[in-house]
Amino acid sequence: MKKHNFNPGPSILPQYTVEETAKAIHDFAGTGLSILEVSHRSKEFEAVVNETVALFKELLNIPEGYAVIFVGGGASTQFFHVPYNLLEKKAAYLITGQWAQKAAKEAKLFGPVEVVASSEDKNFTYIPKDFTIPADADYFHITTNNTIYGTEILTDLDSPVPLVADMSSDIFSRPVDVSKYGLIYGGAQKNLAPAGLTFVIVREDLLGKVSRPLPTMVDYRTHIKNNSLYNTPPVVIIYSALLTLRWMKEQGGVAEMERRNKAKAELLYNEIDRNKLFVGTVAKEDRSRMNVCFVMAPGYEQLEAEFAEFAKSKGMVGIKGHRSVGGFRASLYNALPLESVQALVDCMQEFEASH
Ligand code: PMP
Repeated sequence: MKKHNFNPGPSILPQYTVEETAKAIHDFAGTGLSILEVSHRSKEFEAVVNETVALFKELLNIPEGYAVIFVGGGASTQFFHVPYNLLEKKAAYLITGQWAQKAAKEAKLFGPVEVVASSEDKNFTYIPKDFTIPADADYFHITTNNTIYGTEILTDLDSPVPLVADMSSDIFSRPVDVSKYGLIYGGAQKNLAPAGLTFVIVREDLLGKVSRPLPTMVDYRTHIKNNSLYNTPPVVIIYSALLTLRWMKEQGGVAEMERRNKAKAELLYNEIDRNKLFVGTVAKEDRSRMNVCFVMAPGYEQLEAEFAEFAKSKGMVGIKGHRSVGGFRASLYNALPLESVQALVDCMQEFEASH
């Protein structure tokens, strides 16, 4: 039976990425070696890094003055790398979920943190709207897509101070005006590659301003200077990322990804709103296109386990909601086809008809 992969991350990747990575495991770029065995200093792999950076810049339309680097440690490591490199006086954070909380917690190790607003009062079911970004902060940190709760900031905010964004779960899902951001980071394991890679897009003139000494590996300038090859990077994962970027370009770039993501999200949210058995968990205007969270409607709560079983029997994978929300979460990343969303919708309708 066909599986429909709604995993929140690691998650579905383009078939092209999976197949071409598999080929390179046998023979990478005609070298006669597996990509598992090549040197990160080989000219063939250096070409991979260069093309990956070039495609990041092309697909996201990254202006001059920004660098793209690849590092390890996941987005969680960026939670402290960001303040390490940027926080001198104070930082401002918008708290829209657990990832934002974790990011702010790390920043507090380096200096004062002003929380400009938080949606914790309603279990992060909305994005706070009325807040003032302090003009004396070194940067303002946001999480553009809240993977656990299913809310998303779909506009590029105006900020009087450098805007720093964790885009782990919505990078490449829509065109972004990178010039409005000082730094964008994320783990690769949703829209880009298998787990094991972290990307950072940074405006270079923001670096080198803090007075604290920076360990070499923490200093973004190390990785910029060395083209992300200061130490041994995850060779295979970077290659897979390159394949996804080539696929994205061939499909029509981030504008086309956005068109598809809008269509997929609309299809599923319409069904949630129509179906008497289900109800969405977040404020409609803040609904994420990447992670769609829903629970059983009041009066039907006892059907949750039965629906989970039914969906599983129809090939749905990874729709169990995060433990802090409950219910269901369907992640609709770039590589998930519309047919999979339709299959889930069919499943919800069939279940409704029999109850
Ligand atoms: N930020 C967001 C928005 C996430 O969704 C995640 C992981 N799902 C993280 C940070 C943590 O990423 P990592 O596991 O790569 O450290």
